[in-house]
Amino acid sequence: MSTPPLVPSPKVGFVSLGCPKALVDSEQILTQLRAEGYETAKSYDGADLVIVNTCGFIDAAVQESLDAIGEALHENGKVIVTGCLGAKKDASGDDIILKVHPKVLAVTGPHALAEVMDAVHLHLPKPHAPFVDLVPAQGIKLTPRHYAYLKISEGCNHRCSFCIIPSMRGDLVSRPIADVMLEAENLFKAGVRELLVISQDTSAYGVDVKFRTGFWNGKPVKTHMTQLVEALGELAAAYGAWVRLHYVYPYPHVDAIIPQMAEGRIVPYLDVPLQHAHPDVLKRMKRPASGEKNIERIQAWRALCPDITIRSTFIAGFPGETEAEFEYLLDFLKEAQIDRLGCFAYSPVEGATANALPDAVPEELREERRGRVMQLQETISKNRLQAKVGRTLRVLIDEVNRTGGVGRSAADAPEIDGVVYVKPPYEPHLKLKVGEFVDVKVTAADAHDLWAQA
Ligand code: SF4
Repeated sequence: MSTPPLVPSPKVGFVSLGCPKALVDSEQILTQLRAEGYETAKSYDGADLVIVNTCGFIDAAVQESLDAIGEALHENGKVIVTGCLGAKKDASGDDIILKVHPKVLAVTGPHALAEVMDAVHLHLPKPHAPFVDLVPAQGIKLTPRHYAYLKISEGCNHRCSFCIIPSMRGDLVSRPIADVMLEAENLFKAGVRELLVISQDTSAYGVDVKFRTGFWNGKPVKTHMTQLVEALGELAAAYGAWVRLHYVYPYPHVDAIIPQMAEGRIVPYLDVPLQHAHPDVLKRMKRPASGEKNIERIQAWRALCPDITIRSTFIAGFPGETEAEFEYLLDFLKEAQIDRLGCFAYSPVEGATANALPDAVPEELREERRGRVMQLQETISKNRLQAKVGRTLRVLIDEVNRTGGVGRSAADAPEIDGVVYVKPPYEPHLKLKVGEFVDVKVTAADAHDLWAQA
């Protein structure tokens, strides 16, 4: 077996200013850097990046810190700032450091080990050593190589009465935006062509950290759904890849991402779990965004982005659901013309508060109502897919077989939506390949899938 070439360790310069508390912060950062395989550099020019831990206590300390940052920028150029001065704002609320030194790569306050390490990973990644690291840079994925799920947060602040996720996973915890973006970039670099953004409530991303500002590509980016989507769209465009959003509750700020879909920066697809339409049922379900006027919202989204695909899930036979409330749901579905729909008969989950609600709907009736929703949806879906016949669509190929290939258009998320059966191109040298995009002409449709010619 041949010995792998030695990859030199990345080197970080460190300037530590301030009091003993700042010194402890510096020690923790240096310890973490060493634990991850970084080396410390003794001079600015021997460093790949410099961290300056600042003090902001008195004017002289502020000046000393600003001078140290200036020197590091001048001598090295790649500078991350942490410490007390990082948390200080001037009278107009602007960040003092960024005002004087706009070229620093990232700024954090004191005791911010995780954020400092995020910034280091972003600007000076550890080289991946295949004989030492057990995990590839993009992590271990259970999905095919060309698509991957990107989890942006864990837990949920809502308390829907049929759900026990918050009691199992706790309240919303958003991942730092730099972490999320770095993972996305590693996935694209590893060949992922479609990124599926998931969480319990994608629209709430960043609420728990008060939409804290992080850094990506040297620019400040807020931990907020709209800014995340914008940054992911930009990154995906650089790799010619798709970004698809799941579990988006229809809060007003969601409207801001529809133009990005219309401009093709992210896939025009919204997975909005509505669960019901009748306001009283939604109230009993304790659903988030239940006061939103969903029909008007959907119509406005379609006016802005006519190609948008809307996916949703519904529950039939929720406790107390009357025939009139159920028919209200059917009327809503007729009007909303949702493209992709799943419907479940209500089923009590142990520990859910909905179990204590009066007037449970008998199981047979729950199933019957589910069947009526699915029957209606069959017709809606058939008509909507039929309207695509004759159009040219871009398809990502998931599978190649003897008769051609199976792929998905922007309207089809993996596993849950339909597929496009693709006949191979007429020219024998043009072959379908798994994980590649191909433009196809739709030739036929049924209620779930499309058939097309490459
Ligand atoms: S169903 Fe409701 S409570 Fe459960 S994860 Fe979704 S939003 Fe949160």
